[in-house]
Amino acid sequence: MEVRVGIGYDIHRLKEGKKLVIGGTEIEYNKGFEAHSDGDILFHSLTDALLGAVGYGDIGELFPDTDQRYRGLDSSVFLKEAVRIVHDMGYKIGNVDSVIIIQKPKLLPYRDRIRGKTADVLGIEKERVFLKAKTNEGLDSLGSEIGASCYSVVILYKE
Ligand code: MG
Repeated sequence: MEVRVGIGYDIHRLKEGKKLVIGGTEIEYNKGFEAHSDGDILFHSLTDALLGAVGYGDIGELFPDTDQRYRGLDSSVFLKEAVRIVHDMGYKIGNVDSVIIIQKPKLLPYRDRIRGKTADVLGIEKERVFLKAKTNEGLDSLGSEIGASCYSVVILYKE
C-alpha cells in the first residue's frame, strides 16, 4: 500500500458585516472572512493539504484570486476539485484532521455539523473527519479577533 501525507494552512481577516462560513457551515457571529471567495479557512487548508499530498500544486495556482469566477464562491468547489484530482491519481482519503485558531465565537456547538458537511464534500465517513477549535489565548492578531486560521493534515492511500 502506498501512503501519502499532506499539510495545509490558511488564514483570513475577519471583517464586520460579512458571513462567517467554516466547513461549509454558517456560524452566527458579527464578523466574517474578508476574502475573494467565501474565505472558508477549513476548506482552503484541506484543499491545500490534499493537493500537497499528491504534489499537484496549491489552491492559489489552481484558483487564482484574480479570477472573477471565484468571487464570493462557495469554497466546497475548490475542495471538490482537489478530491477529484486525488481520486484521478488513484488515491483514497484515509482521514483528515484540522486545528482552527479563532478567538471567538465558540465552534464546539457547530463541530458536528461542520464534520458532516466536510465529510460529504470529501466523500468519506464523518468519523474520518475531525477538527479542534482553539482560541489564541487573546494573543496577537488571532487573539484580537482580527483574523482566524486553520491547519489541516490529510493522509491518502493507494491499494
Ligand atoms: Mg484562503
